[in-house]
Amino acid sequence: CNILGIETSCDDTGCAIINDRGELLSEAIHSQHLLHLRNGGIIPDVAQDLHRANIEPVVSQTLEKAQLSMEDISAIAVTLKPGLALSLVVGMKYAKHLARQHNKPIIPIHHMEAHALVARMQHDVTFPFLVLLISGGHCLLAVVQDVNSFQLLGESMDCAPGEVFDKVARRMKLRNVPEYSKLSGGHAIEIAATKATNPDMFKMALPLADYKDCNFSFNGLKTSTLLHLHRKEKEHQTVADQLIPEANDLCAAMLMATTRHLLHRTQRAMQFCEINKLIVNRKQLVVSGGVACNNYIFNSLKILCDEAGYEIFRPVPKLCTDNGVMVAWNGLEKWRQNIDIITNMNALDIQAASPLGENLIPEVQ
Ligand code: ATP
Ligand code: FE
Repeated sequence: CNILGIETSCDDTGCAIINDRGELLSEAIHSQHLLHLRNGGIIPDVAQDLHRANIEPVVSQTLEKAQLSMEDISAIAVTLKPGLALSLVVGMKYAKHLARQHNKPIIPIHHMEAHALVARMQHDVTFPFLVLLISGGHCLLAVVQDVNSFQLLGESMDCAPGEVFDKVARRMKLRNVPEYSKLSGGHAIEIAATKATNPDMFKMALPLADYKDCNFSFNGLKTSTLLHLHRKEKEHQTVADQLIPEANDLCAAMLMATTRHLLHRTQRAMQFCEINKLIVNRKQLVVSGGVACNNYIFNSLKILCDEAGYEIFRPVPKLCTDNGVMVAWNGLEKWRQNIDIITNMNALDIQAASPLGENLIPEVQ
């Protein structure tokens, strides 16, 4: 079988084809990143127009690169939730159009499940495993029991780490530094942080330090960072598009505080899994989502895993951020288990918000 995957949940129009051995035959992606960077954020109408303009060429390119036609495709996997409604609907409509025209089933995909499961494509990750998903719209910890069985241990109670990185980078005007001009906020902050000399000059409190659950909160870190920035701007009387001299230190301080929080909650989740025997034979942590590209965060998590006896895995960077491959892979995982292969697609619809799996609401003592 060959599975074609389509992803349009946010600002990337992605497509990929994977065969029954799990091999990637081809992929194509059109990213709207630079345009949204110039606009200072994603405008849903603009994102939708760009998805509409690019979906057909991206899918055609993917088929061409694999030298396949729709007749060679067994099913179409498509992200239906969660994401921007206006973006999701473009992928869904195109998938339905292809499915009707060529008489193929559709496999509906949950974007965050796809971020988690794609780790199994290149790594020996077996069920059950613990997953930390850190991205532009989410921060969550879950136990993945099976392809369609996710147990949510905790999630962000306010914003997501990638969103904070992007906002801070925008406020700092990092885009004006030529070296960072084409990078995401998170990536720019990661590089700036490596140039820091005195990150300890900016103090940041550990969020939810006294809470014994596995939830996250990033609003406090965002506010402290912006306040530090404001204070330094006043001190140096910098004009709006100039960096404060301590920008690198502030980036490092913020990245370190974010990392401490992620580690703290992941450690809680490990304890909860131990007490409740959720992770039995192999202790495995998968880290995925765009923020997982961050090497400082990943290396810090690796130290935690070494101490806790966990193996750690992350997809390669281009599979951590949004892509069509993870959708095709998730489609193949469902195909193999005969789950969610939908031939009557009238009832299929998008869902902008969609919690992941059942919520365990842990209380770790
Ligand atoms: P979601 O998956 O929650 O719907 P999304 O799809 O918009 O959100 P992703 O594409 O998974 O998010 O990730 C994009 C985010 O990853 C951006 O916020 C970006 O700043 C962040 N990011 C990318 N590279 C890095 C990095 N090296 N360090 C930190 N953050 C990064
Ligand atoms: Fe994503």
